[in-house]
Parts: sequence; C-alpha cells; structure tokens
Amino acid sequence: MNNAKLAIIGSGPAGLTAAIYAARANLSPVLFEGFMSGGMPGGQLITTGLVENFPGFPEGIDGQQLMANMREQAERCGATLITEDIDTVDFSQKPFTLTSSGGDVWNADAVIIATGATARRLPLDSEKKFWGRGISACAVCDGGLPIFRNKELAVLGGGDSAIEEADHLTHFGSVVHLIHRRDSFRASKIMQKRALEHPKIKVHWNKIVEEFLGDENLSGLRLKDTVTGAISDLPISGCFEAIGHTPNVGFLNGQIALDELGYIKTLSGSTATNVDGVFAAGDVQDAKYRQAVSAAGSGCHAALEAERWLGGLIHA
Ligand code: NDP
Repeated sequence: MNNAKLAIIGSGPAGLTAAIYAARANLSPVLFEGFMSGGMPGGQLITTGLVENFPGFPEGIDGQQLMANMREQAERCGATLITEDIDTVDFSQKPFTLTSSGGDVWNADAVIIATGATARRLPLDSEKKFWGRGISACAVCDGGLPIFRNKELAVLGGGDSAIEEADHLTHFGSVVHLIHRRDSFRASKIMQKRALEHPKIKVHWNKIVEEFLGDENLSGLRLKDTVTGAISDLPISGCFEAIGHTPNVGFLNGQIALDELGYIKTLSGSTATNVDGVFAAGDVQDAKYRQAVSAAGSGCHAALEAERWLGGLIHA
C-alpha cells in the first residue's frame, strides 16, 4: 500500500498549480498526471498553439511549453508525478483510496480532483468511421498534416475554440468552412470579428451535420439547415469538431455531487466538494470561465484549503 498526505488527480494548470503550492507547504503531494483517460497529460493546453492570455508572457507562450514549465516547477518544488490514470476511488472512508491504471492502490488523507474536461464529439456512426481519417478535434495537433494541405476544410461550432481552430486552419487549407447550428456566435466579439473578416473563412449559419461522407477517407459533409430543413452536401477533406467539452468525472462513480451540467459541485466560494477532505479545481468544476489562468487560480485555492483542512483548521 502506498500512502500520500495529499493526492492530486490531473495535470492541467489546476492540478500542477495545486502541486506547486502543496509541495511548498511540505505536504509532499503525489500527482497522478494521467495517461489515456481525459486526454494527454498536461490538459487541454497541450493541444493549444500560442497562448496569448496567460499573464506574464507578453509575446504569448506555446501551450505545450507552458505546461512543460508548470510540470518542471511542480517537480522542482517537491511534488511526485506519476504518469498513470486514477481508474477508481473510494471516498466512503478515511483514508481515501485511489486505484491507478497500473493497479497500484494509494491511501490519501486528502484529495484534489483536477481532471479537467474532454472535447465533445458528434454521436454519429459516420463520425466514428472517419475519426482519424479526416475528422479530428484538434486543429493545432492535426491541421498541418499533408492530407489537409491546400484542401477545403470545415470546423464545427460557434464558440471561441471553433474560431480559434478555423483561424489556425487558414494556414493550411484553401478555404475553411465554419459551420454553426445557430445564426449568431457564442464566441467573444474579438474572435467573431476575426472569423467574419478573414478572407479564407466562410461561415455557414444554421447548419448541422447529418452525416459524414466518404469512402476510405472523409470527403464531405451532409448538412441540414436548422431553419428550412434543406439538405445539402459540402465537399471537404477535413473536419474539426469544436463543440464544447464534457467534464472528466466518470472515475468518481457517483461519489461526488455534480451540478446539472455534470460538473463537480463545490461549496460557494470554496473548492470543497460534498465529501469532507476532497477538493476540486479547474475545468472539472468550472462550466463558466474555463480559462487556464482561472484553473491555475482554483488549483492554488484547493491546495491552500487542503493544507488548512489537513491541519485541522477548517472543516468543509
Ligand atoms: P463553448 O461551449 O463555448 O462552445 C461550443 C460551441 O459548440 C457552441 O457554439 C455550441 O453551439 C456548439 N455545439 C455544442 N454542441 C453542439 C452539437 N451537438 N452540434 C453542433 N454544435 C454544437 O466551447 P468552446 O470550447 O468554444 O469554449 C469553451 C470555453 O473556453 C469558453 O469559455 C471560451 O471562451 C474559452 N476559450 C477561450 C479561448 C481564448 O480566450 N483564446 C480559446 C478557446 C476557448 P451553441 O452556441 O448553439 O450552444
């Protein structure tokens, strides 16, 4: 049996910031940085290009570099990082137990959950068929592949991610079709302007994908107009889904209370969950802001609250 005063699950900005603070508080945190479940270690910034809104980097910083820096900082401060998922937890008794994907069982006095959220995908059989054969959820990871060069490409969604992906793909594709199910964007005004004024981005309002088309590889989209019901086919060679995220809470198996959107419910003004000694930070408990910097901030809060809780100073 392995023992930890504080276990942190997740290695995005929330988990790594929690690890930095907890290590500096002499809690010797053990951080499970994940392996397969919920995406690559490092969280969603690993699949982001230039991050322009994280304070301290006036020229912006590459997402992978930012996460590599945070990881190095957490280790240098004294956190132990384990490259495994946590598959199951038992929060019914103390110490809590966590079982990793490698089969190791850990006892932990306190736990911070910072497992983030995963990109949503359309629930169509044809989506599964062409996944990796022209469909992706990450333009920054896959957009530069030869199959997409100088081809017509599509992005699905109307949020900041969709526009960011479309903008990125203009470096590779001949035209980028931005397909949105409504007649106005959810994205911030500055991003909307970027999409609407870009000569290579063509916006298709009120359209949803009925079917992904092709033989071996994706070659088109069958679209339905949400207002008129009209069906049309759009020939494209690549499609990037940017339709939001689902919080990574499956491994909790119902042991932590969630809100109506499926995010972990924390007490108002706190990172405490409904289980005394279990805290949550970052996108897994934040459907509203979902920013790297706010995730890092809540990771700091969770570490400070876990430290106080372990010291017997507060009870959630
Ligand atoms: P959002 O939830 O903001 O947007 C998801 C988009 O996908 C919406 O336009 C939604 O449509 C659409 N959508 C959802 N489900 C479906 C479906 N089944 N079929 C078709 N369309 C669908 O997610 P994002 O990932 O864009 O952004 C998440 C957060 O991250 C936001 O707070 C955003 O501001 C932030 N962000 C910030 C960036 C930056 O500052 N540079 C970059 C990227 C993200 P509808 O609008 O109709 O609901």
